[in-house]
Amino acid sequence: MRSTHGAPAESSNLPTPASALVIAAHPDDAEFQCGATLAKWARLGTKIHHLVLTDGSKGTWNPEADQGALVARRQQEQRSASEVLGGRGRVVFLGEVDGDLHADDPTTKAVCRALREIRPEVILAHDPWKRYRLHPDHSAAGELTVNAIVAARDPFFNPDQIQEGLETHRVASLLLFEPDEVNHVESVSETDVDLRVAALETHTSQFETTHFHKLDPGGSAESVLEEFRRQQRSVLAAAGDLHGGGFAEEYHLIQDQL
Ligand SMILES: [Zn+2]
Repeated sequence: MRSTHGAPAESSNLPTPASALVIAAHPDDAEFQCGATLAKWARLGTKIHHLVLTDGSKGTWNPEADQGALVARRQQEQRSASEVLGGRGRVVFLGEVDGDLHADDPTTKAVCRALREIRPEVILAHDPWKRYRLHPDHSAAGELTVNAIVAARDPFFNPDQIQEGLETHRVASLLLFEPDEVNHVESVSETDVDLRVAALETHTSQFETTHFHKLDPGGSAESVLEEFRRQQRSVLAAAGDLHGGGFAEEYHLIQDQL
């Protein structure tokens, strides 16, 4: 099943949902992991919402950086990325401290509230079971997501939210990105790949630390940007090659327990 064996995924291309919510640990994670899928669905009419769990305040290598300014800048970058993707939905920031995200009760409850308010048909999120993933916020974000999905659907979880007028909500599909085991792919067009790259390029504060890290700077800033674009295309083309050609993004799909 794992794509390293080159086996085709078990399923592909969900029916276009009416709404989708991507839950990301940091601003830019969504675009890096599922940007082309979001662009495809937005083109087809899906309302795309973003929930970003942390404030992104550690996303710099400059120890002199003004973290408050960085948080504000990254929120604006995330809103711009959503616009580039054609999202049309809400962009919500939970505001947990970057690097200090935990799947504790208060944070799970806050994510549960967001699910009951936004009421998405599909959720895209980090895989909490991904092996060898170093950043603790990513596994915590995945764990928070699955815990909140379970809580949101039943009235005796966080009943105070029900009493104040929110209704329970059951998600139809969960797509875990950067999956430990691939069992589903979304095929995307060249246009969707270009939109993913364009959305990533709105996160200019992250060019040095994330986007261009380990790319050969070569000569000009333009050449490293070109290399970034080539790298992004090749990542999605490689996934496409494993699963029937073209471009694709890989997931672990969960539906049966929802
Ligand atoms: Zn991240």
